Amino acid sequence: MNVDQLRERLAFYRDLGVDEIYRRENVEQAILSPVNQGVFLASSAAIPSLAPDGDTLLKIRQDIGDDCRRCRLCEGRAKIVFGSGNEQSGLVFVGEGPGADEDAQGLPFVGRAGQLLTQMIENTASKEGIPIRRPDVYICNVVKCRPPENRAPQPDEMEICGQFLFRQLSAIQPRAICALGATAARALLGRKEGVTRMRGNWYKWRDIPLMVTYHPSYLLRPYNQDAKREAWDDLKKVLHFVYD
Ligand code: URA
Repeated sequence: MNVDQLRERLAFYRDLGVDEIYRRENVEQAILSPVNQGVFLASSAAIPSLAPDGDTLLKIRQDIGDDCRRCRLCEGRAKIVFGSGNEQSGLVFVGEGPGADEDAQGLPFVGRAGQLLTQMIENTASKEGIPIRRPDVYICNVVKCRPPENRAPQPDEMEICGQFLFRQLSAIQPRAICALGATAARALLGRKEGVTRMRGNWYKWRDIPLMVTYHPSYLLRPYNQDAKREAWDDLKKVLHFVYD
């Protein structure tokens, strides 16, 4: 198996919700690997655990700051990717974290996965007679800085940056949230099941209805025709729920 095949295989497992995999003889080494040695020391910048009264997206963005160094993801990022779209939207999509294109532009979902997400939103809405386009919804991620090599964010990174995601959602108060993929589902629901099991069902983040569906990067892979159909079904449900 070459490196690309191995990468593809690991991505496949990750999309199924499997996020730890190891070779038996390397367990001790893995436990001691640099990634797992201790938790990155949070800087002195305090992270409020509850949304302050009258919180706004502008205030949250200001609290993050222009050079956030609260976790190790700051080391490789070019731009902080806060979120984009209609700040009063009834619908918020939450992805995992910025990729290379998002890191370069400072905007969420602008690469290949983003183009697919845009198509999914706009084509589904148009077929269903719902008059919305991508700028009418709000899109953000669990972590605001690009993880190296597009790896999944680690639990401490999700916890640190997740505080800002929670404040964003509390400030927007959408009618529904759509969690794209396992990382978003885990951050918002604290559940570790794979997306295949959770998708298509309604959950709640605080009091807000939340639907889990596949991450668009997963749908870009050639073997995922069934998943594509399912993701379109999920999106239909969410759009009707919010806009009917
Ligand atoms: N994948 C994500 O999860 N978020 C982005 O913004 C882009 C790709």
